[in-house]
Amino acid sequence: MPSYTAPTKDLHFVLHDLLQISTSDVPGYADLDADFTSAILEEAAKLGQNVMAPLNASGDAEGCRLENGMVYTPKGFKHAFDQIKAGGWNGLDLPEDFGGQNLPYLIGSAVGEIFVSANMALNMYQGLTHGAISAILAHGSDAQKATYLPKMVSMDWTGTMNLTEPHCGTDLGLMRTKAEPQADGSYKITGQKIFISAGDHDMAENVIHLVLAKAPGGGAGTKGISLFIVPKFLVGEDGSLGARNGVSVGSIEEKMGIHANATCVMNYDAATGYLIGDLHKGMRAMFTMMNEARIGVGLQGYAQAAVAYDNARAYALDRLQGRDVTGAKNPDGPADPLIVHPDVRRMLMDQKSFVEGARAFTLWGASLIDRAHRMQDKDADGLISLLTPVIKGFLTDKGFDMCIQAQQVYGGHGYIEEWGMSQFARDARIAMIYEGANGVQALDLVGRKLAQDSGKHVMAFFEIVKTFIKENENDARLEGFLVPLKAASKDLQAAAMFFMQRGMKAPNDALAGSTDFMHLFGHVCLGLVWARMAKAAYAALESSTSDRDFYDAKIATGRYYMARHLPATALHLARIQSGAETVMALDAAHF
Ligand SMILES: Cc1cc2nc3c(=O)[nH]c(=O)nc-3n(C[C@H](O)[C@H](O)[C@H](O)COP(=O)(O)OP(=O)(O)OC[C@H]3O[C@@H](n4cnc5c(N)ncnc54)[C@H](O)[C@@H]3O)c2cc1C
Repeated sequence: MPSYTAPTKDLHFVLHDLLQISTSDVPGYADLDADFTSAILEEAAKLGQNVMAPLNASGDAEGCRLENGMVYTPKGFKHAFDQIKAGGWNGLDLPEDFGGQNLPYLIGSAVGEIFVSANMALNMYQGLTHGAISAILAHGSDAQKATYLPKMVSMDWTGTMNLTEPHCGTDLGLMRTKAEPQADGSYKITGQKIFISAGDHDMAENVIHLVLAKAPGGGAGTKGISLFIVPKFLVGEDGSLGARNGVSVGSIEEKMGIHANATCVMNYDAATGYLIGDLHKGMRAMFTMMNEARIGVGLQGYAQAAVAYDNARAYALDRLQGRDVTGAKNPDGPADPLIVHPDVRRMLMDQKSFVEGARAFTLWGASLIDRAHRMQDKDADGLISLLTPVIKGFLTDKGFDMCIQAQQVYGGHGYIEEWGMSQFARDARIAMIYEGANGVQALDLVGRKLAQDSGKHVMAFFEIVKTFIKENENDARLEGFLVPLKAASKDLQAAAMFFMQRGMKAPNDALAGSTDFMHLFGHVCLGLVWARMAKAAYAALESSTSDRDFYDAKIATGRYYMARHLPATALHLARIQSGAETVMALDAAHF
């Protein structure tokens, strides 16, 4: 059975040493002193470790079931859900007006990592609800907010997002679900949605579906799409639950992972729906939810890698196989532990340096969201918009790779379900697909975000890297960070230039290199946060009270990332610059 220990110390390092939140000018951050954030993280750790993680493997084995139209979650899930609910965890970063605690999004993200590592399938019921709340907050009327938000913040009711249909996933313009206007201002929603996460379950009184559908007069393609609130049980004016709406679960999908999250086929049969936001502007409203959700999915990618690494590390310290080639480390035992072997070290260092870098990158991104929302900072908004596909695509691709590495540390035992490593890989795999498959994230980055606002945000990113290097170039301790960061950043600039010059003339060149660009960008982001973390660690080491082992390990781990991962940028650049010629050479018939 795998175990889980929440990385509270590292989260604390990112919040306080790296991001220095208590002295930040973002409204609300000044209240986040070290004692306060530690108390929150420790409480979240208790819930994650003692309540959620113990249900991860059993939930995976049991899965959800559909009986007589009702969806049942695995044994123990309702009890755990009730504890998350009672702790008010869903409302941590939501407005007080609707029952939340109004803490920064950053804190919600730090807690989110703990819950996702502990039990991703269970956490998704809350995650989807959080996303639906964000869309209602941003686009709902005052009456809709008053009706739905208090119950959703408290998790008496949960939420879903319904985009996908059998014939349309990426290309939502093909959508067929219809919305017919009614005399009372509501709509009748008819159609089928598939793959709907947390589509139904037995843990909440009501499920509030946010559904994309086509209302008359909107025209073809995505332009004609509107967003609707479709409750499972209709809600009376006084907030009481009324009749069952015309929405039902057709089936639960059999799938590779996240078995304990009910992925449902949802049938809408003239279900009553209420328009949210402007008619025919549903994509805009849904994107509010999807941008937040994409960062949440990037977090899922590294959070699965984090728990997988935690177990691989423990296994490598415990399992005895072979001898250290430089001399026995466990001479009285039959063999040395796996961790003595350089190739096992390589796998562990790959995971550790990725996970800690990804954590810092994601939480930096979360702090940009706070800056954008709490200070109406347009530059922060533009920067996080640029970085969102990188957080989603790069961290989930790499997160899955790192789960596989963790599985590899276990040898054959990694392939055996009992050890739990297979579940981390299976659960992590979906993060590369949903919320827009990673190939589509790369297209978004290259096709939209790079040139957004005339390239202002990518230029701002380059400026951040350049300024950091310049400000620290006289600090010899950071040389091993700044030199590779500079080289990697140059590769990124060369790639961006290649797309800008070729993008219009030869769009396939940009599209064929888009995934390489997303990965190149991801490495530079992790290189930047590692350089910043090294600086923060050196600063902490100057204090006599610091935990030297922790900070020394932090610097050594960063040096590994810079030496062993960052050179990948040159490979990505070479691939990008080779253009589309070899990618497109074959006639479709020759595949
Ligand atoms: C377990 C699970 C849970 C899910 N939860 C939800 C949910 O809660 N709500 C919801 O609405 N949906 C959900 N989905 C659906 C998910 O978001 C889609 O599967 C995903 O967006 C991809 O759509 P698709 O499966 O139709 O693939 P397609 O759109 O057919 O794409 C197939 C492949 O082609 C690539 N591709 C497609 N178009 C292009 C292009 N123009 N250029 C380059 N490459 C392209 C994609 O990257 C992908 O690799 C879920 C799916 C699963 C499996």
